[in-house]
Amino acid sequence: MFRTSTSALVSLRISSRRLATHVSQSAPTTALGTRHDWSKKEIQDIYDSPLLDLIFRAAAVHRQYHDPKKIQLCTLMNIKTGGCSEDCSYCSQSSRYSTSTKASRLVEIEPVLEAARKAKANGSTRFCMGAAWRDLAGRKRGFEKILTMVSEVRGMGMEVCTTLGMLSPDQARQLKEAGLTAYNHNLDTSREFYPTVITTRSYDERLDTISAVRDAGISVCSGGILGLGESDADRVGLIYEVSSMPEHPESFPVNALVPIPGTPLENNEPIQYHTLLRTIATARVVLPSTIIRLAAGRQTLDEAKQAMCFMAGANAVFTGEQMLTTPCSPWDEDKTMMARWGLAGMRSFEQTNVARKEGSRLTASSEPVAESLSVSPAETQSAL
Ligand code: SF4
Repeated sequence: MFRTSTSALVSLRISSRRLATHVSQSAPTTALGTRHDWSKKEIQDIYDSPLLDLIFRAAAVHRQYHDPKKIQLCTLMNIKTGGCSEDCSYCSQSSRYSTSTKASRLVEIEPVLEAARKAKANGSTRFCMGAAWRDLAGRKRGFEKILTMVSEVRGMGMEVCTTLGMLSPDQARQLKEAGLTAYNHNLDTSREFYPTVITTRSYDERLDTISAVRDAGISVCSGGILGLGESDADRVGLIYEVSSMPEHPESFPVNALVPIPGTPLENNEPIQYHTLLRTIATARVVLPSTIIRLAAGRQTLDEAKQAMCFMAGANAVFTGEQMLTTPCSPWDEDKTMMARWGLAGMRSFEQTNVARKEGSRLTASSEPVAESLSVSPAETQSAL
């Protein structure tokens, strides 16, 4: 159990030196101490602090709120690819751009369940399903299929997440009733920069969907993409936006743009590593109880770089065969990497805020599915 005093949690102004003397080796159980009144200036000052100081501070906060040995492993499946009417300028699935991604219909239920079973067998405790469309309007039968998928995957004891575009409050309620754990709807970037990236859906529409999800009692997964051409102020603006929500999102994905030929951002320069690290560390300090998810683009980071991201507060990865449209690190590689760094997989519903929203559903049928991910020393050696 988490034994750090409440007063220690309440003030993130405590100096990093003092925080470091209160390192806890066990996971926290409270969201007390999260602030919703950060100013942009405060966040910018954190972001601008010397990088190693920032990482040190973030690592200390991380140990106050999370078990630093635990990484959540999630597997993502695209259940409906391409042909999307939106114009997100980074996305290969928009029908407005000429990319190699071909449009497909919503997949059937059984292949999804098969993929979820495989993910669980490999140690993933969260299974996410993504569909490329603006919203669920006119998709009654498709939505019913998705509700069945959600219910079945949840029945395996896994956390289940979907990303299906904009949602109405009623659709969010139905997803919750089906057993949905979390809903992903990224803000992508700051309010100011957003219109240069997407024009077919407003920032406020995104916030409306996030509100519907939160009001339905579903955990929120909302983060951004780095490398869109945004400035430091935009990265700070994104963190500011989520920090001022009534509840911090339970999950904050940090994606590094993987430029896709045929999209308007195909020639963007990759985000610099120290900028990625700075963003992760700042998010960790400002959103202390949130899971910071190292998402798309992780494959471009070597192991030492990933380890530094974990030190800076990242504590979730996507693992398996594929992200939505970009490559993913395979389970075996991730397991051996984690073993080398003394890391293990999180159990399902290990995050306190997610478990709280699950409430009475956390019965024997949803026992944690991965106590840890261990590999033999021999396996570790052979990967060195
Ligand atoms: S990011 Fe989502 S909403 Fe935007 S174009 Fe791609 S699939 Fe459509």
